[in-house]
Amino acid sequence: MAGKPPFADIVAGLPASVPFVPPEETERRTGVTINLRLGANESTFGMSPRAWEAMQNAASESHLYGDAHCCELRTELARLHDVKPEHLIFGSGIDELLGLIARAYLNPGDAVTTSLGGYPTFNYHVEGYGGILHKVPYRNGKNDLERLASTAEKTGSKIVYLANPDNPTGTWFTAEELQAFRSRIPDRCLLVLDEAYIEFAPAETGPPIDPEDPGIIRTRTFSKAHGMAGARIGYALAHRDTAAAFEKIRNHFGINRMAQAGALASLKDPGFVRKVVQSVAEGRREYAKLAEELGFSAYPSATNFVAIDVGSAERAAFLRDALWQRGVFVRVPGVPPLNRCLRVSVGTPDERKAFARILRETAEKAMK
Ligand SMILES: *Cc1c(COP(=O)(O)O)cnc(C)c1O
Repeated sequence: MAGKPPFADIVAGLPASVPFVPPEETERRTGVTINLRLGANESTFGMSPRAWEAMQNAASESHLYGDAHCCELRTELARLHDVKPEHLIFGSGIDELLGLIARAYLNPGDAVTTSLGGYPTFNYHVEGYGGILHKVPYRNGKNDLERLASTAEKTGSKIVYLANPDNPTGTWFTAEELQAFRSRIPDRCLLVLDEAYIEFAPAETGPPIDPEDPGIIRTRTFSKAHGMAGARIGYALAHRDTAAAFEKIRNHFGINRMAQAGALASLKDPGFVRKVVQSVAEGRREYAKLAEELGFSAYPSATNFVAIDVGSAERAAFLRDALWQRGVFVRVPGVPPLNRCLRVSVGTPDERKAFARILRETAEKAMK
């Protein structure tokens, strides 16, 4: 029998478990069909009809590779963000870009700082490139900026990660608070500012974009407010030298024509995203009221989801499973104290009504 070719050391050392179990897999396993898919912060508002039309047209050109430079989309985004086109990096979603960031900056053994219970895909990639994670607990329900900065300093971290607005809490910091944070991060440490939910946040949430700052990469996506999660397209804003380095490692044809055409058309239909954002803001208020009515409390949110603290991890797990049995998919974050929360995406008004009804009935049982 032939010997087994050995894996690379880092890969051989990684845990075998798959950290991201899709709801489809749980559906297959449990035999339950999901009617209310509110666990992955996808937009149930869908995408702009103009994006849909552009994608249908582009589908007929799918025998061709996409434009590796994403030229049209790049030009439009550069205009919108008032930067030069060479400050943009494209990827098949932020998730891919986070992997490229880890690859671009980390040698095996390098330190990285993030929040304990923060966005797990970043951690997944850091570990995949041999980085060592230092995790700072949340403080009063928010990322602890002070300790993130001091931990980055103490550990000599190469990267510090912050999602603003945050997942899974939904909380956010103002531009001013972020600028103070930025100034406390050591020179040789990169700040990854993940702005997946920025469209849902108050106007003063993102600090001005400084394209000349080599110490920061900001990531954006079409998955959330634009409703194009399945199309897989996102981008980063960075210093031109940073962007140039990514040209050496990125998957040049990784973004298909449909995604590029859809993203461009969606940018040209800002009224659609504005309406989604408005309805989501309404939905957040409804969820907060619902939580209060049930004796729970909701984290303040500037995203398209609300984390509802139901009082204990046991109750959160019970409610998650009971909701699943009734065809409702929500998630519970894995780490205390966030594991006391149901994280619920804000759906359309009809979905919100259905969710409220089912949660009320389910909660009654949980409280007995
Ligand atoms: C949803 C989410 C992403 C994933 O974005 P994609 O562009 O779909 O890969 C990244 N970061 C955070 C914080 C998210 O919640």
